[in-house]
Amino acid sequence: MFLKGKTALVTGSTSGIGLAVATALAGQGANVVLNGFGDAAEIERIRAGLEQASGGRALYSDADLTRAEAIEAMMAEAAQALGPIDILVNNAGTQHVAPIDDFPVAKWDLIIALNLTAAFHTIRLALPAMKAKGWGRIVNTASAHSLVASPNKAPYVASKHGIAGLTKAVALETAQAGVTVNCISPGYVWTPLVENQIPDTMKARGLTREQVMNDVLLAAQPTKRFVTVDQVAALALFLCGEEAAAITGANLSMDGGWTAA
Ligand code: NAD
Repeated sequence: MFLKGKTALVTGSTSGIGLAVATALAGQGANVVLNGFGDAAEIERIRAGLEQASGGRALYSDADLTRAEAIEAMMAEAAQALGPIDILVNNAGTQHVAPIDDFPVAKWDLIIALNLTAAFHTIRLALPAMKAKGWGRIVNTASAHSLVASPNKAPYVASKHGIAGLTKAVALETAQAGVTVNCISPGYVWTPLVENQIPDTMKARGLTREQVMNDVLLAAQPTKRFVTVDQVAALALFLCGEEAAAITGANLSMDGGWTAA
């Protein structure tokens, strides 16, 4: 249990990749702050399960990360209950699929706020304690869309290129502080986020569900297989270890060969 005594905040961890990362960190003894939306009873089941796995504490925050003041309150509450954040995983994200000239303005604002600006706030609030301790890990969930684009996903692509840039900038600022800052760029991972965009893609491109799965999603992925949440979580966990202390400012692809093409 190499993370015993550390505290981790994983944003967007009630589902998908974030839940797998929170589970992996708790499995190594970390106290975990869970965040995201969902069914209250199910979230409580997850929270209690994390405590059982870690032998430590797990706290749930329902903070809406599109609001700076909610992020500030979550960070303060977490620090008070579990101590300062040692491991920050900026993972919460959302998607909407539409051509740029049809893109709802409110959706643009939401995607940029959640996928990019929220990480600015959590990082600026978590860093002082990490620097003071001389140890910290920041892992951002970017995407293959931090490196390449797809049509009808302009704000998502912009936000993910943005978080990759933020990762590099903060890595340089913290390079001598014992803090590493990296992003993981998955290809298509089978989660509710992917499942939910199938209907919009069907509409935007006039395709059937099967065509979207095979000709749009897995078309980009040379392995023709979805990435799993556990594979992403294993890489995030590795980045938290001492073996990864020299990895900073990296954008680590886990995309079945997508961005090699
Ligand atoms: P998901 O929809 O399963 O999970 C998203 C999480 O974010 C949930 O816990 C949800 O409650 C939370 N969330 C949503 N809005 C929020 C808000 N306003 N405030 C706080 N939390 C909020 O999605 P996922 O596929 O696990 O995606 C996680 C991250 O991985 C995202 O940043 C996404 O862009 C990225 N990603 C996903 C894939 C994929 O194929 N699934 C690929 C590359 C990158």
